[in-house]
Amino acid sequence: MTQSLWLATTDSVSLPSLTASTKCDVCIIGGGLTGLYTAYVLAKAGVDVVLLEANSKLSHGTTGHSTGKLTAQHGLVYANLLEKLSVNDARLYYHLNQHAVEKALQFLPKESIQPVDSYLYCQTKEGYSQLLKEWNAYKVLNVKAKITSETELPFPITKALSISQQAQINPVIVSNFLIKEALSMGAKLYANTRVQQLRIAQNDLHTEKNISVQYNKLILCTHYPIEAFKGLQLLKLSNNRSYMVASKITETYQGQYLSVDFPSRSIRTTTINDEHYLLLGGANHIAGETANTKPFYDAIQNEMKVHFGQEPLYRWSAQDIETPDMVPYVGKITQSLPNVFIATGYRKWGISNSFVAGDLLSSLITGTAKNNDSSMLYSPARTKFGAQFMQMLKVGGFVAKELVTGYIKNGNAPTCTHLGCKTKWNEADETWDCPCHGSRFNAQGEVLEGPAVQPLKLD
Ligand SMILES: Cc1cc2nc3c(=O)[nH]c(=O)nc-3n(C[C@H](O)[C@H](O)[C@H](O)COP(=O)(O)OP(=O)(O)OC[C@H]3O[C@@H](n4cnc5c(N)ncnc54)[C@H](O)[C@@H]3O)c2cc1C
Repeated sequence: MTQSLWLATTDSVSLPSLTASTKCDVCIIGGGLTGLYTAYVLAKAGVDVVLLEANSKLSHGTTGHSTGKLTAQHGLVYANLLEKLSVNDARLYYHLNQHAVEKALQFLPKESIQPVDSYLYCQTKEGYSQLLKEWNAYKVLNVKAKITSETELPFPITKALSISQQAQINPVIVSNFLIKEALSMGAKLYANTRVQQLRIAQNDLHTEKNISVQYNKLILCTHYPIEAFKGLQLLKLSNNRSYMVASKITETYQGQYLSVDFPSRSIRTTTINDEHYLLLGGANHIAGETANTKPFYDAIQNEMKVHFGQEPLYRWSAQDIETPDMVPYVGKITQSLPNVFIATGYRKWGISNSFVAGDLLSSLITGTAKNNDSSMLYSPARTKFGAQFMQMLKVGGFVAKELVTGYIKNGNAPTCTHLGCKTKWNEADETWDCPCHGSRFNAQGEVLEGPAVQPLKLD
């Protein structure tokens, strides 16, 4: 069945929808891990916070479709960061994310999180040279790590690079815990409440039922920011989709694994209601680029059978957003709008980065930031001209191409309500996908994923 293992096996806490206009100090749009954790931290600091989520349950967006690895080992990130940023910034990125892992291990309930070692592994010569480059970056940054040839995986590997004191979560149990804690500290959380109009100059917004919320500060935790054009993020963000399968297995692993070869694979295990499961993910492509997504599912379903001897019980897909320099955008959307904040661009490493973002946003809003370094590192306004410019050309070119060819090739397909690109029918997921900025709609035309906020017009 096309459903995430987490959402299929764990009930989410129910929340009311917003039925009357209201006022608050901080309004958060989006109840994934970022929005929810930010609401929790702000409420704990005594801030009057309202959170609005479009789905009927919180964390049913990307968070509930993730692999749930909570680690500072974000693929081959550190060798890349050392090429793009200073040593201090690369080290700060590691420390912020490692701190997030350690903090979560302390405060989240035991049933929602398990400590594990995290492994990058390779099976090819090219992968091995990438792994060595990453290990060298670890040495520069003082990240403690081990190289090994031994893993518990049921197939041979060349080498693996491991770091200890990492973790993995069940995103729905974490979400349920944060909901209860945030509510108990006075946060007001609403589901089934899609924001359709932002009136930034008036400090208010309107939901699809035309209910208004007046705020002093606004935080967009909508994954792809629904007002992205304000800070030109639209041209800098790209969207990448991956595929997951899960099956029952007899024993769980001690570690969580990511291959650095192409195509990459992500592996972890979990226990839910006394049953053990294995999750296998990978098979990436630009979101909305291809209509025929069945081969991506087929590839990992087949590997699940060949390598692990299991028929997949659950399968699902999800997408995540990337920035040009691999560091998320967290902070003021632009200097000219000092009361509007965003958090996005996690590059499939948004579990630890959601905790980093929540702490950073809270310190920016309450004025308790200890130093400027983290807000500068994650600032959406940062300018690394080379990488940003190249990405803008790439994304701008891709969008322009899709806009034109979409009208030639898919003239009869519904038009995306975000910026007017032609959508494509995705047969395997039964969704209308927009190749331009990753908006997705169900067969009835209802928004599944932004930046679009209005439904499709289906004839
Ligand atoms: C296949 C896959 C596997 C991944 N695995 C990992 C992993 O193992 N470890 C890791 O660190 N990261 C992982 N990630 C990345 C991680 O899941 C995401 O970066 C993270 O969950 C994003 O959280 P979020 O709160 O920003 O977004 P989301 O969880 O998507 O939440 C955004 C919310 O905003 C709501 N929303 C949108 N528009 C509106 C609107 N107009 N009004 C109201 N609400 C709105 C949406 O409904 C949604 O619930 C993975 C990503 C993918 C795609």
